[in-house]
Amino acid sequence: MKMQFDLRQLGRHKGGSLRDEHVDRTFQASEFDASVGTDEEYKVAAPVHLEMDVHKDGEAYRATGRVATKLQLECGRCLEPFEIAVDSPFELRYVPLVEVPPAGEDGGEREVAEDDLTTAFYKEDSIDLGELMHEQFVLALPMKPLCKESCKGLCVHCGANRNGETCACAPEWTDPRLAALKGLLDRK
Ligand SMILES: [Zn+2]
Ligand SMILES: [Zn+2]
Repeated sequence: MKMQFDLRQLGRHKGGSLRDEHVDRTFQASEFDASVGTDEEYKVAAPVHLEMDVHKDGEAYRATGRVATKLQLECGRCLEPFEIAVDSPFELRYVPLVEVPPAGEDGGEREVAEDDLTTAFYKEDSIDLGELMHEQFVLALPMKPLCKESCKGLCVHCGANRNGETCACAPEWTDPRLAALKGLLDRK
């Protein structure tokens, strides 16, 4: 379980007070292949650098840092793979994952964080770094992945990648709205 951060390892000063833990780790892209499901819309394409400070705050832990790597995506138009650089800062508040509310307590009253930190959960005294990074990657994904803004996509007739090849398919597909307009003009 290399991608876990054990919260019990948070260092202590001689006096007994907790000090913030600085995490600085690099994961190889291959480490993600093993854990990533087939339904992911990205592939980790470079070593992942994770840097964060973990600060204990009562029962909760505050994790502030950034994660940087390169992700490989598939262009939504031409289906060719392309890479994007990711360098995402994050600020998370980890609270213990409580499966069943303890009996006898006035249940349901969940402490709401006063600040706008994103809440995440830890269990068994550890933070799942794989999940943390996965979430940051998903947040960094473009709404519409395009290899380039001007990508011409595939020919709807023969499937040729119109960025590189010119196919013999004719006529060119025309926008129905333009066709209607052309019809109006022709009538004059
Ligand atoms: Zn493309
Ligand atoms: Zn074609």
